[in-house]
Formats: sequence, C-alpha cells, structure tokens
Amino acid sequence: MNWEIVIGLEIHAQMSTKSKLMCNCDASFTSEANTHICPICTGQPGMLPVINKQVVESAMMIGLATKCNIRKLNEFARKNYFYPDLPKGYQISQYDKPICENGSLEIDVNGVKRTIGITRIHMEEDAGKLVHAGSDNIKDASYSLADLNRSSVPLCEIVSEPDLRSAEEATAYAQKIRQIVRYLGVCDGNMEEGSLRCDANISVRPKGQTTLGTKTEVKNLNSFKAIEKAINIEVERQIDILEEGGEIVQETRHYNEATNSTKSMRSKEDAHDYRYFPDPDLVPLLIDDAWIKKVQDALPELPEEKKNRYMNSLSLSEYDANVITVEKETVAFFEETISFGAKPKDTVNWIMSEVLGTLNQKGIELSQTKLTPKLLAELLILIDKNTISGKIAKTILPQIIETGENAEKIVAEKGLAQVSDQGEIKKIVEAVINENAKVIEDIKGGNPKAMGFLVGQIMKRSAGKANPGIVNELLNELLS
Ligand SMILES: [Zn+2]
Repeated sequence: MNWEIVIGLEIHAQMSTKSKLMCNCDASFTSEANTHICPICTGQPGMLPVINKQVVESAMMIGLATKCNIRKLNEFARKNYFYPDLPKGYQISQYDKPICENGSLEIDVNGVKRTIGITRIHMEEDAGKLVHAGSDNIKDASYSLADLNRSSVPLCEIVSEPDLRSAEEATAYAQKIRQIVRYLGVCDGNMEEGSLRCDANISVRPKGQTTLGTKTEVKNLNSFKAIEKAINIEVERQIDILEEGGEIVQETRHYNEATNSTKSMRSKEDAHDYRYFPDPDLVPLLIDDAWIKKVQDALPELPEEKKNRYMNSLSLSEYDANVITVEKETVAFFEETISFGAKPKDTVNWIMSEVLGTLNQKGIELSQTKLTPKLLAELLILIDKNTISGKIAKTILPQIIETGENAEKIVAEKGLAQVSDQGEIKKIVEAVINENAKVIEDIKGGNPKAMGFLVGQIMKRSAGKANPGIVNELLNELLS
C-alpha cells in the first residue's frame, strides 16, 4: 500500500528574558541547584504570580513574524498534574485562549516550497528538574533531588498544523522556526542546552484518505538530526504494524538516539485529563492595537525579507541569499563586510567557504576570531584591485584570523603582491615555453588541457604572484 505521512510539530522555545514568567527570579541557567528560586516559583502558600511583560511581547513578536492573529483578550490556565518537579501541582499555561493563532510559514525542501499552518502559539512556564542519584533514570536511582531553578522559566510553545508530509519537511520547518526566534532575539535557539525542544505528532494513512490516522507523540527531540531520524523510524514502525493488520495505540513515545528506536512512555493523555481551568490568581491580559503596532514596528528585518532584499538589490542568487541568511551572526558579518566596500557575491563566497571552513578546522566560532568584517573587506578589495590573487589571499587568511593583522601589511611584509610587470612575467613565460617543447606541440595540436599545464608551471615559478591576466595574454601572443 502507498502511505501518506502526516506530521505536526510542537516546538518549545525558551524565551531569553532576564527574569522568569511569573516572578522576578533570574531565568538564566546555573548549575548550582535551587539558587534561582523564590516563594512564587516554588509554589509556597499565599504566593501570587505576576506575568512578565517581556514574555508577552516576545510571544507577540513570534506571532507577527509567522503571520498569526494576536488575541486581544488573553487568559492563563492551570494545567493540573502531579510530579515532584512541579511543586504547585499545576503549570501556568494558556489553553483555549492562546496569544497567537492561525499563522503560517513557508518552507523550502530541495526547491519545493510549501506553506505550513501554525495553529497557535502560547506562553507557559517550565517545570523544575529531578536529579537522579547514581543513574540517569528514576527507576535505577538510589534517590532523587528536585532542582527548581527551571521552575517558571518562560517558554513559548509553537504548534503547527498537521501539514508536514516528510521528515525532511519537519526538519526544514523546525530550522525555520529556530532561525526566526534567533533573528527576533527572543530565544537563543540552543538545542543542545534545551532552549529549543521539539515534540512530533506522527501518523500515517493510506494515500487519498482524508481522515487522520491514529497518532503518536515522540517527545523531546533536541537536535535536527534527532527530529529527522525519530520521524523516519516512527513512521516505519507504524507502517509495519498497519501492514500486519495491527492498530496504532495513541501514546507518548521516547526516542532513543543510541538505538535509533522509539519506545512507549505512557498512554497519551487528553486535554481533559489536565483539568484546565482559568487561573484565578491571574487577571485576563488585554492587548490593544497600539501595543501590537508598537511591537510590529520594532520587529527586525526577518530572514525572508533579507533574502528578498539581497536578491533584488544586491543581485545575489537565491542559493547565495539562502546560505548567507541562515545564521544571524553570519548575516551580520556579511552586512558589515559589504559596508566596507567588498562585493556582495565575493563576500558570500568567502564567508561561506574560506572563512567558515578555516574556523571549522580550528573549531571556533565567528565571534571568537580576530577576523573583523573590516579586515575581510580589506582582503577582498586587494583581490579586486589585482594586488593579490585569490590563491594568495587564501594562504594569508589563516594569519589574519590568528593575529588580526590587516592584509595589506601581511602582503607587504611577505612580498606577496601580484607581479603585473610585463617584462618580468615575459621572462618566466619564455623560460617555461623553452623547457616544455612537447607541451607546446600538444597545444598547437589543439589540446586545451596542455595550456592549463603551462599556466600552472608559470604560476608556480612566480610563486603564485604573476598576474594571471597578463600570463594568458603573453602566452597567446608568444604561441600564436
Ligand atoms: Zn521565583
């Protein structure tokens, strides 16, 4: 049978605010347990939560960036369940009145563009964390301790429609969300540290069927690779069961990266199991048009807008515009480099291949190097003015990255400037022609590769410094 895969993603993005969602405790990570806590986030009797305005604005920003409607009358709800890392016995969340609804996002997988619906975005607080002694799971631990530093750390949950049709699409969608929240500056997008986590709702159905199959939810996927692999393996498992005449059980499953398999965690709870009800400690939150406009006006330029601008006004190809806008840091570096006069297309090529390639080898990030946009621009301008060849530029780039010295100084010190003196180059060209009688015969016999060999020999003898334009000119002249 031909199966269709149906996936919806729930992405939990931790907001990078200074304080928590409902109290003024420090929301940043610390390894020292229970140092960022207060009576509110530990659920002491009589505590009263107060909503963090910055989180509301962050949620609005994500909503506006994904074409959502912003709800004017917001309510907070209690999501009730018992767990030792949740001292209040409930999480403050939003239920039937989320702050953002009905948005969409365009993804591009291998050139095929699709629009993915966003059902809702809501604010909620995180729970604490259990630390298990002697094991990483509760079952084999001799005892467990609760660390409530994370309790009430602000999250925005971004829920997609079940519009995704493959693991690649789901990954592309998650990458897009990460890119947007990072551009907005509302979340650092660090998946390893859990600032961005993803749950995937997965089902399959025979192609052509309109009703949805029974879904399972695979929890806590914390890398793009995990999203892709977990979906593929879960889809395979579901299809195997259905093809053998079995039924899918609606449940929550855990993905194990080491064994590349999913395992049942618990039967899937429905919303009514949580007894959601409006939190009586929190008054409804009203958002007016003026506030929405203020947030809208302050939105930074988003990846999609940047991409279009680069294609239209900088004449970058769609491919180049895409790769340079993926990471916020890279795009900032690019913009500053061209502001110093480097050509956009060359700058993209150099950043994406030479600069990031060299940094990768050294295992460092762009922000950690001595290379500045100004230094890169100076190097590219030297190539452009024919002072040095691209090849020479590549050899001195590591030194610039290492020392922060400018290209002109390095070129002068090492005598690397390109030789454009006709007479000097002519001597080398003639010498190489004389030593390669056989090659000259080949060229005259119409072998174009032989010409390349000759140019290579001349460049080698000039230590890469001969101006290639003049070399070619002279060769043509002397061989005709
Ligand atoms: Zn607190």
